[in-house]
Amino acid sequence: MALQRGRMVEQDIAARGIADQRVLQAMREVPRHRFVDPQHAPQAYADHPSPIAGGQTISQPYIVAHMTELARPRPDDRALELGTGSGYQAAVLSTLVAHVYTVEIVPELARGATALLDALGYRNVSVREGDGWAGWPEHAPYDIILVTAAPDEVPPALLEQLAPGGRMVIPVGPVHAVQELRLIEKSAGGEVSERQVAPVRFVPMTGGDPTGP
Ligand code: SAH
Repeated sequence: MALQRGRMVEQDIAARGIADQRVLQAMREVPRHRFVDPQHAPQAYADHPSPIAGGQTISQPYIVAHMTELARPRPDDRALELGTGSGYQAAVLSTLVAHVYTVEIVPELARGATALLDALGYRNVSVREGDGWAGWPEHAPYDIILVTAAPDEVPPALLEQLAPGGRMVIPVGPVHAVQELRLIEKSAGGEVSERQVAPVRFVPMTGGDPTGP
C-alpha cells in the first residue's frame, strides 16, 4: 500500500501543483486505505472520492492535499475541521499542526472516526459529535478552519472562531450544485479577506442555524 500511496502522491498530487513538502509528506504517511470502506480499500490510492459509512464520501486525495496546503499549516497551529467523516482529513492535518478539533453531525461517523484515529495512534485529534454550523467555541480561536461539507453561506460562528492571522478553507454554495472553494483570511488586526480558489463538489452541510430562515 505504501508503494501505491507514494505513486499517488507523485502522479495525482505533486504533478498537479501541490508543492508544500510537509503536505506531500503527510499524504505519503497517512494510510488512506484504512479510512475507506473495506471493500474499497484496493482502490484507496486512485484519485477519486470513496464511499464511507452513512452514505457520505471521503474527498479525493488531491482535494484533501489542496485544502491542506491552502490552510498553510504550521507546527504550532490549532485547527478546527467541520465534517469529520472518516477522519482522514483530520489525520492528515494532525501530522502538520499541534492539535485538530473536528466535529461530525452523524453519530455513527463520529464514533467510527474516534475509534479509528485512536487505533492508528493519532493522539492530537479530538472528535465531537455535533452540528459544525456552530463551530466548537470551547477551544476557539483556531489558526486553521477546514470545512469539508458545503454550507450555502459562511457560518458566522466560524468567522468569529478564526484567530487573527488565521486561514479558513470552505466550499460555499447551493446543495447539489457546483460550489466554490474559498480561502478566507483574517489579518492580525482582525480584517477579513477572501478569494475564490476553485469549483468543487462537496456533500451539503446539514443542520444549520436554528434562528435562520
Ligand atoms: N473530511 C471527511 C469527509 C467529509 S464528507 C473525510 O476526510 O473523510 C462530509 C461530512 O460532513 C459528512 O461526514 C457529513 O456527515 C458531515 N456533515 C454534514 N453536515 C455537517 C454539520 N452541520 N456539522 C458537522 N458535520 C457535518
